[in-house]
Amino acid sequence: MELKHKNRSFRKVKVKLASRVTTQYKRRKPAHAQCAKCRKELHGVPRAFPVEMKNMPKTKKRPERPYGGVLCSKCMRETILEKVKA
Ligand SMILES: [Zn+2]
Repeated sequence: MELKHKNRSFRKVKVKLASRVTTQYKRRKPAHAQCAKCRKELHGVPRAFPVEMKNMPKTKKRPERPYGGVLCSKCMRETILEKVKA
């Protein structure tokens, strides 16, 4: 453990080893993805670190529909209806 990890940016994780219990410091998970219009939390978008996202298949990163991973389903519907009417 290094002192630079002993702050609120990292979370404490107690790990059981063969002989003792130690505290390890791990990065907090990135924030939830949010809708670009209403700021609501997006479903189907994982809270993963950029390195993990890079190794993930594209289909697991966002819903497969127009504006998937950008707008929530409600805002997507509204946007498409507006575009059709215009
Ligand atoms: Zn929305």
